Amino acid sequence: LSLITPRSWLLDHNAIHYCLPSPRPANSHKGGFGSVGIIGGASGMIGAARLAGMAALKLGAGRVYLGLIAEAPLTIDPTQPELMLRPVDELFELDHLTCLVVGPGLGQEITASLCLEKALHTPLPLVLDADALNLIAAYPELATALRSRQTPTIMTPHAAEAARLLHTDPASIQRDRFTAAERLAKDFNCALVLKGAGSLCMLTNGHRYFNTSGNPGLSSAGTGDVLSGMMGAFLAQGLSSEQALLLAVYLHGSAADALLGAWHGPIGMTASEIIDSARCLLNRW
Ligand code: AMP
Ligand code: MG
Repeated sequence: LSLITPRSWLLDHNAIHYCLPSPRPANSHKGGFGSVGIIGGASGMIGAARLAGMAALKLGAGRVYLGLIAEAPLTIDPTQPELMLRPVDELFELDHLTCLVVGPGLGQEITASLCLEKALHTPLPLVLDADALNLIAAYPELATALRSRQTPTIMTPHAAEAARLLHTDPASIQRDRFTAAERLAKDFNCALVLKGAGSLCMLTNGHRYFNTSGNPGLSSAGTGDVLSGMMGAFLAQGLSSEQALLLAVYLHGSAADALLGAWHGPIGMTASEIIDSARCLLNRW
């Protein structure tokens, strides 16, 4: 591993090698690869939940359920029938989920905060993204529920979400990203990635990783949703929260780097393409 300063490492291929899922045995079964529940998809933002779900599916989760906030959603996604669409309340009735990803397209209405509260009280490993983070920043009782969790939680803020959580402005976060990430991880007792060019991963043991993969092609809609779904896939396949975090962040950036070569540049890279590129790399690594 490449050390930058004491307890700070470069997140490169050497650092994630030990995180890769084991080769699949010939007699494997979908039950061995876990079930991811995605909570999000308020009206007008169903695409975000769908992207997270697609990422979970294509990075190897056994089953993926989308618990949608939007009322009267479709019961099937005709273009991706593998995704199981449910009204969000029904997700909490399933007894075989391995982990939950809360946030993609969640919105901030009352149903969203009630679902987040329920999720924070489950014993399942959690990935918290987007409006899940904004709700925690806005409601102290949700922050308290997060701090008292006994099972691992990963938070995935970008600079603006981090600023809301720390009650400051994005420019202050960007001036000292290491300190911001460290404060958030300590304050919320979570593993965390502070996203953006050179994403910073903070583990609960105080070790931090500076990501070396990724490029401006990722500055497009939905790429964050894809990252959270990838983390769900890896948690479902039995990786620890810290392994899932490091592997997802490095693979997500590497997927974008692979496309950069294919297209001679970053313009017009889409979140869906990142998923397919990541799947290709993961099978090869
Ligand atoms: P979000 O801000 O939630 O949409 O997430 C965007 C994702 O793309 C995060 O994983 C960022 O780290 C990544 N990303 C965005 N812009 C860049 C960039 N210029 N270089 C590398 N990664 C980026
Ligand atoms: Mg986002």
